[in-house]
This record gives sequence, structure tokens and C-alpha cells, in this order.
Amino acid sequence: MGGGALHVKSSRNVMSHKRKGFKPSAGSLGPSPPPSSRAVRNVMRANGGRDTGIELKFARALRRQALYGFKKDYKVGKAKVDVAFPKQRVAVFVHGCFWHQCPVCDLSPPKTHTDFWNRKFALNKARDARVRLELEASGWKVAEFWEHEINGNVDDCARIIGLLL
Ligand SMILES: [Zn+2]
Repeated sequence: MGGGALHVKSSRNVMSHKRKGFKPSAGSLGPSPPPSSRAVRNVMRANGGRDTGIELKFARALRRQALYGFKKDYKVGKAKVDVAFPKQRVAVFVHGCFWHQCPVCDLSPPKTHTDFWNRKFALNKARDARVRLELEASGWKVAEFWEHEINGNVDDCARIIGLLL
């Protein structure tokens, strides 16, 4: 189960990019565009390169629920799991609403370099889906939370993981 915590996106978004002429190229986007405006810089800064803030918040909530034995940034094959319980084979991802383009928050990409951002988001989503399938194929249970869920009620998120262990 996993309740409302599971958010696998279909590959439809990726496909629509493909139709517009976007060719996914083995994960390579080239260099980031220069942050050409203060707005873009602020977006990049606010969202960070990674989702470490919410990972930490989530890890603290797990401990509050007396759920221990997890490892952060745990490698499974080629995948890196945000928070993993290796013994029970439970993998948890906490997705930043911006980087993984949460449909609830619906954060629009920056106004400049929009093509770059759309390619990046499409790659992120494709990778999320691929990693999830790979983990499930090797016997892991996978749960995903959005940043807004972590910020909304992190203890509920931790309790859901408790049910999977
Ligand atoms: Zn969100």
C-alpha cells in the first residue's frame, strides 16, 4: 500500500517533450544556463541543488517515531536512495516540488531558459520512474513524498513508513 504517498508519474510528460523535438540524450544536458536574472538566481537558491533540507526534516521525524536503521543517500546498484532501510528493503524518496515538478504545487519553470528547464524536469521525472522500477524489480518497497507533504505533516509521512517496515 503506501496510501497517498506514491507518485509515479507516467512517461506521458516525457513523450510530449519528445513530440516537440526533444531528444533525451543519456542524461546529459550540458552546463547549466547562466543565472541571467535575479529571478532565476533566486529560484535556484531557494530550491537548492538537492533536497537535503527536507531529507533532514524527514530523518528527524523518523527518529521521533523510533524508526532507526535507515541510511541517507544509500546506493542500490546505480540508484541513490534518499532514505533507505536496507534490512527491510524500504526505499523512500523525498522529492523537491520544484525539481520534480509536483503537480499539486504546479511551480512553473523560470521565465528564462525555459527549454533548458523543461528538459531538465523531463529528465528528472524519467529518472524517478526508472529508479523506482529498478528498485521494485529487485524486491524493494518504494515510497515517495513531495516536499509539500513533508512540510505539511512530516510525522504522518514518517508514520506511513513505519507501516511499511
Ligand atoms: Zn508540491
